[in-house]
Amino acid sequence: MNLSIQPLIDLADTDRELQAFIYSKSNLEKQIDTASSVVNQHKKTIEEKNDELNALVNEAEELKKNIQIQEQLISKLNEQVPKIRNEKEFAASKNQLEEARKNLGVLEENLLELDINKEDLDKDLEQINVKLDESSTEFKQETSGLLKKQEKAEKQIAILAPRRTRLLKKIPKNIQRFYERCQDSGISTPICAIIDKSCSGCHMVLLPQLINELMSNPNSHKNCPNCTRILYFPVSEEETVS
Ligand SMILES: [Zn+2]
Repeated sequence: MNLSIQPLIDLADTDRELQAFIYSKSNLEKQIDTASSVVNQHKKTIEEKNDELNALVNEAEELKKNIQIQEQLISKLNEQVPKIRNEKEFAASKNQLEEARKNLGVLEENLLELDINKEDLDKDLEQINVKLDESSTEFKQETSGLLKKQEKAEKQIAILAPRRTRLLKKIPKNIQRFYERCQDSGISTPICAIIDKSCSGCHMVLLPQLINELMSNPNSHKNCPNCTRILYFPVSEEETVS
């Protein structure tokens, strides 16, 4: 077996597998996000309606307080009527009472209007809650498969990520640095097999001399003259060539 090239191949294979799972996980996340957008929209509407409802409740409390003040004022004015001594006092008391009753009337009308608005809001909320339940059920049905796949991808990543780190430590320091530099600059597969006489990273057809050199010494590796990826000659390719 190829002793020195094998850790490189193992690393490249593990990394490729890991990347596939990372890609699939982020894809699944996007799909789940899209599916949850309807549910989230309903939740947002419910939040908004609840805020409106709270504002109405506060307003109603305020109105009730003012109604109480007017009622107290009216009963106080009524209590004072028997003590009235002259025309002037009577006229003043009458004016105050009329004013207070008018205010009370306006306040009570406002409270009635608020109650009607509150009832409407309650109905809205009830309907939205039904919709939320429906969309939540739908979401669960739609995404149960996706969530299972996502869980599987996460498990695979949890296995492959530490394996990758282990394998990376096994390869020579200079190749390690090259590998990390490549991945930092966006080349996700810095170690590639020769497939169909080409670099499987950039797909450039390779010179026969380079292929022959690697074929005759399968334990060695060379850089692709085009993309600089590390090339190795896979055992399976040898079989197809010969
Ligand atoms: Zn290449």
